[in-house]
Order: sequence, then structure tokens, then C-alpha cells
Amino acid sequence: MSLKNASIVYRMESGEGRRVWSGVSLDIHRGEWIAVVGPNGSGKSTLASVLLGLNPLSEGQVQRRTNAVTQATRGVLQLPEAQFIGETIAEELDFLPQAGQLTAGERRSWYAEVLAAVGLSLSPERTMATLSGGQKQLVNLAAALAAGPEILLLDEPTAMLDPASRKEVREAVRQAHQRGTTIVWISHRLEEVADASRVVGFGAGRITFDGEPREFFYGEAGEKSEGFEEYEETEKIEKLKKFDKSEKVKKFEKSSPCVELGFDPPFVIQTAMHLLEQGLTLDPLPLNMEELAEVISCR
Ligand code: ADP
Ligand code: MG
Repeated sequence: MSLKNASIVYRMESGEGRRVWSGVSLDIHRGEWIAVVGPNGSGKSTLASVLLGLNPLSEGQVQRRTNAVTQATRGVLQLPEAQFIGETIAEELDFLPQAGQLTAGERRSWYAEVLAAVGLSLSPERTMATLSGGQKQLVNLAAALAAGPEILLLDEPTAMLDPASRKEVREAVRQAHQRGTTIVWISHRLEEVADASRVVGFGAGRITFDGEPREFFYGEAGEKSEGFEEYEETEKIEKLKKFDKSEKVKKFEKSSPCVELGFDPPFVIQTAMHLLEQGLTLDPLPLNMEELAEVISCR
């Protein structure tokens, strides 16, 4: 699916148009995991509503492989309750087109299957109101996945959840991705970005960054891991001696798209930046604790 030069202009009560999204072009490839980041009001949820077919474009085009928007793209949004139609889990799942083709007997095992796909083993008779926030989002995720979407869209689904529930949602999304679902995950949590194969950054209604996570965090240094590998050992030591530490960090922060978008890089990235500042060569530049531990223990 792709967006070509898409813009959205909202009509204000005064009749005046307010352009909140302009010139957005984005190709979403099958099997990708795209993390969408950006400050509040930068147009991320607008992307969600465009991809879900809820918001017509004022300019530009959206191209989909099929026209069945509801089947091709399914989403889980920020507020768990906002998406419920049914009163119980069973009622909620009965709204899926798949349910219509099943007998009452078949449905019982189908409910269990759909819930198990996100690690839930709840009675389908449970009313939504009795579920925790995390369970609600997992039910929403289960319903979205049961529709077999090509693209799973998540708009800050973990914003209201505790760390344990966040982890469960993340794990269920990882498994869906492994089964071949394309993921578009809008998030405020930069640690959720490390799972992505691609980062799209929004600033004031425009795409300001589109690239790999390493490049997003480390800037140009992440495009090609920077180091002194090409130098002989003695030369390396000479280079390190001359090295101005503060310069290097300044350079990182200036060229890091993550910092440019107003985010503090996650702890691991900051740690790695400080190690680089001390003159260490980290190759590859780490994106998570495991990678950091590995790159240091290999030295
Ligand atoms: P984000 O999800 O990144 O916080 P949104 O996509 O929700 O940002 O909003 C982008 C901009 O569009 C904001 O300035 C917001 O106020 C504006 N906006 C969103 N929906 C409407 C609407 N229905 N009418 C007018 N302005 C809107
Ligand atoms: Mg939003």
C-alpha cells in the first residue's frame, strides 16, 4: 500500500481550511515493521486514520492492493474502550466476518483459538467491562489479527498499560509479524522502535525521517558504523589521543534524527554514545541491551 503526496486540510468552523498534513509519501512493503514516531500533534494518528480508510485525503492518492479496507488493514488504537462494539468478548468477536461462517459449536473453539493467538485464556462470556486495560487491548489485538489483515496498525496501543501488559502486547505483535503480517506501530516509546525494520518520523504534519533504526538513533554514524577499523593499531592510539570527546557527542546529537525530533534517546543508545565518546569502537552500533553487551564482550 502506498501514499503519494498526501495532504489533509481540515475545514474549521470559520470555514477556513487548516492544513495539518502535507506532502506525505510512503510505500509500505509486505512484511515490513514500521515504527512511526513524532511529537504530539505531528500527524501520527492522522496516518492511522488514513491507513484505516477513516479519513479521506484532501490531496494526493492512497493506493491499496485491494479495495477491502477493513480486511486489508486492521488497527488497535490508544483507548481500549473506544473500539468495543460488543458487550462480551464473544459478542465482540462475532462482529468479525469470519464468525458468520461458523456453527455455534465451531465458534467455541474459534474463540479460544483467537484469544490464544495473543496469549489470552479468558472465557468468551466475560464482559469487556470486567477486563483490565491490558486484557482489553489484547482482545482488541486478537480481534484485529483474527480478521487476517495484511497490515496491522497500532496507534499507541500501550499508552495506558502497565509494563507487564506492554510486554504482552509487544510479544503478540512480534508473533504476528513472524507469521507474515506487516506492522505499522505508532509509538511514543522509543524502546519499541528497536523491533522495527524501518522508522518513519513525523514533524509538523510531514515525514522528516524515513530510514533504519540505527540511522534514526545514531545519525550518519549509523548508516555506516563509524570506527577506526581501517587504521593500524598504533595509528588508532594516536587518533584516540587527539580525539575531542565533547565534539563527538555534540556531533552525534546534532546528526541524530531522534534528537532532532525532540526525543531523548533510550538509555542503551545514550550509553553507547558515551562509550563512543570515550573512544570505544562499537560495531555494530547497538540498539538494545543484548547487542550492547555482545559488542562489548566481543572486544
Ligand atoms: P498525533 O497523533 O501525532 O498527536 P494527530 O494526527 O492526532 O497528531 O493530529 C495532527 C494535527 O491535526 C494536530 O494539530 C491536530 O490538532 C489536528 N487535527 C486532528 N484531527 C483534527 C480534526 N478533526 N479537525 C481539525 N484538526 C485536527
Ligand atoms: Mg496520536
